[in-house]
Amino acid sequence: MDLNRIQLWQGDITTLALDAIVNAANSSLLGGGGVDGAIHSAAGPRLLEQCRTLGGCETGQAKITPGFDLPARYVIHTVGPVWRGGHSREDELLAACYRNSLKLALNHGLQAIAFPAISTGVYRFPVERACTIALREVEAFLARHASPSKVIFVCFSDAGAALYRRSLSGTRAG
Ligand code: ADP
Repeated sequence: MDLNRIQLWQGDITTLALDAIVNAANSSLLGGGGVDGAIHSAAGPRLLEQCRTLGGCETGQAKITPGFDLPARYVIHTVGPVWRGGHSREDELLAACYRNSLKLALNHGLQAIAFPAISTGVYRFPVERACTIALREVEAFLARHASPSKVIFVCFSDAGAALYRRSLSGTRAG
């Protein structure tokens, strides 16, 4: 597989002009804090109006909307698991978030898509463990499908970026 299809970028995901950015939403899809709040405020009120019609979203699933006022064309909303100690299918549900988001991108013919570190904020999923799952799922998906052609992991903090960089270089070395 061409590992250049995976990139790391540090900053605010709402500024990216890509085919889609992924939102770490909650199951109501009606907005929240963290990256969800940033996406809703940058996308404008039409995003919330559209989300109201979707009937929420289950943990591990994903739904797609236009990006409205965002530079990104679409927002893929996925609901990560709340970390409850690791015995409540958290790993499996987080993996499903990445897979189902990528499936939506594929089905909509989207090429460039960015993910935040789903569940690692308010939902308290251990960052290193989440990073390993994210990379594993994205690599496995890209190995089987020609699109998306590019997946960007967006890290907000220096610590998160350093962790992803280490994991990515581990993958590339191996
Ligand atoms: P969750 O509820 O799934 O844990 P959060 O939004 O609380 O979602 O956090 C998920 C990750 O998104 C965290 O690593 C947080 O630092 C990061 N984050 C918050 N705001 C932004 C943003 N504007 N762009 C990119 N990442 C962000």
